[in-house]
Amino acid sequence: MTARNLKDLPFMLYADPEGRIYEHPHLRMAGFSGSSLSPLDPEGLMVMPEFSKLFYIPSCPPMGLDPHTGQLITVQEMDMGGNPEACSAVAAFLEPGFVRTHLPAAEYRQKTFVLPSWAYGAVGFKDDQYWSPGFEVEYNERWDPRHYDDRELVPAISDFKEKFSGGPLADHLTTCATENHCFAAKNLFLKRWEAPLPVSRRCNAACLGCLSLQPGASFEASHERIRFTPSKDEIVALAVAHLDHAPEAIVSFGQGCEGEPLTEYELIAESISEIRRQTQKGTINLNTNGSFPDRIRKVAESGLDSIRISLNSARPDFYGAYYRPKAYGFEDVVASISLSRNLDLYTMLNYLVFPGISDQAAEVDALTALILKTGVNFLHLKNLCIDPAFYLENMPVTGGPCMGIRKMADRLKERFADLELGYFNQPVL
Ligand code: SF4
Repeated sequence: MTARNLKDLPFMLYADPEGRIYEHPHLRMAGFSGSSLSPLDPEGLMVMPEFSKLFYIPSCPPMGLDPHTGQLITVQEMDMGGNPEACSAVAAFLEPGFVRTHLPAAEYRQKTFVLPSWAYGAVGFKDDQYWSPGFEVEYNERWDPRHYDDRELVPAISDFKEKFSGGPLADHLTTCATENHCFAAKNLFLKRWEAPLPVSRRCNAACLGCLSLQPGASFEASHERIRFTPSKDEIVALAVAHLDHAPEAIVSFGQGCEGEPLTEYELIAESISEIRRQTQKGTINLNTNGSFPDRIRKVAESGLDSIRISLNSARPDFYGAYYRPKAYGFEDVVASISLSRNLDLYTMLNYLVFPGISDQAAEVDALTALILKTGVNFLHLKNLCIDPAFYLENMPVTGGPCMGIRKMADRLKERFADLELGYFNQPVL
């Protein structure tokens, strides 16, 4: 990257011990791919989307580029109010629908804890705006934060509770909507789009970045896992009411606030059969880790319409290192994807993207082979929510040539003309 370009880059950000964020007087922002510096192309920078969040990363000094030499410099301290103080790196958590292409440039070796599970992305400041390296993979009005106004939600919940006898699942989802700000839970009460049906307390995996259960970890899971098994009657009542009245209605088993739904496959299959006996409207979807092909067949035969199977990698060793599966393997997940297509389910992969791993040439080859073999319909490009250093410490190979996340997406799109790339579940019309 030429000096001219370096000067065009936004300024590096840093935070003081209270988390107040500042731009550096001359160092420019940098971005990482895995644990290596990765050039930032000014073309690949976008104004940070409005509903993104900013984080400061305690005990992790920021790293910035000297615009004259191109040297990467770690900034341990900054003068703040006349006193030198330790400073921290700053990261962006991008608005849903946007894919980060670079990790923050930070020195993680001094921290003694694992960061909470968020998708930390690089961010800088210039012309009174925050700038992030990334791109929009899908705009979807159904998930646009501008369409979620809690002034509408509270009366909607009261109205819902008046008309609907309610139960423990509706109470659980009220907490999800009002305290965890889960958009899907808000939709249930706002009677529109995609609504959640969490059912499972257990899981047969132990993902490094699990959102609902982190036993013994130095950080809390971002969601509280459901503590009961809802009744078939309540599941059916909630689902039928939603499918019958909501525009572009989807009900989804498998949420961030639960374990693996296939551990409750019989309850799900019986519920779907009864839902479809009462209504043919909308889409019934299952978000899953795809660990039990035979159970997917049972659920599919009960009337399921679509399925979203999650994976962080199309390489068995990388998959195993992240999911830490119990009594199933990557081959079961591949069999589930193929079976879902053969059973004519609208089949989506929930691909958890991480710069420096997902765009390794070997990974793109493996993902290409998996899509070729299974014929999936839709590929979610989801930013993987995890402490970057913790993830890299646990992955088999972290170096090697990387093509860049944007180039990876373009290459898949070129290779598979019929494959949809996006970020959100799709109604099956
Ligand atoms: S599959 Fe889901 S619930 Fe199970 S450990 Fe992974 S993230 Fe958690």
